[in-house]
Amino acid sequence: MAKRVGVLALQGDFEAHRKALDRAGAETCEVRTAAELESVDGLVIPGGESTTMLRLLKEERLLEPLRRYGERRPIFGTCAGAILLARDVSRPAQESLGLMDLTVERNAYGRQLDSRVVRLEPEAEFAQKIGPGDLEAVFIRAPIVRRAGPGARVYLRYRGDPVLVAEGRHLAATFHPELTGDDRTHRLFLETL
Ligand code: GLN
Repeated sequence: MAKRVGVLALQGDFEAHRKALDRAGAETCEVRTAAELESVDGLVIPGGESTTMLRLLKEERLLEPLRRYGERRPIFGTCAGAILLARDVSRPAQESLGLMDLTVERNAYGRQLDSRVVRLEPEAEFAQKIGPGDLEAVFIRAPIVRRAGPGARVYLRYRGDPVLVAEGRHLAATFHPELTGDDRTHRLFLETL
């Protein structure tokens, strides 16, 4: 049976994630309430603006349900979503779900890399799991993962820094895998459900 994957739909580009997950063979729905959250096997937190998303999560009383959900179920956070998953957030420091043992620095590429498309060569483990070939990565005011815990598995790097990393049961991408039509990153997440 197809896995049911929710996309947090408070803010950001959740629609493109739904399309990518559909293409990758999942059954998808938008998540805006704790009840909807409980109905899905895994969740995607899209890119957008992490401060705004954090505020909306609090307003909707979803922050604690989301944290508890992440203690049992896999979450895939992209860009702002990755910032929310990390244990430590800097520049500026910000509250987060703390579900992944990562330290991230927001907007860390500076003005010259507000937005950029690059081709990345997958690490061996990624290629093995999901197939060979470079992956196009779109960075938009992206964070940098400054530290990953000892159990982290790094699937992709850009300039030496992890940009696709699994830690615990979760997956974080600092780029936007939903924007390129290459759904291997979403497939990697679906494998964990
Ligand atoms: N710069 C944003 C933040 O700090 C993230 C950007 C994105 O999700 N594309 O939340």
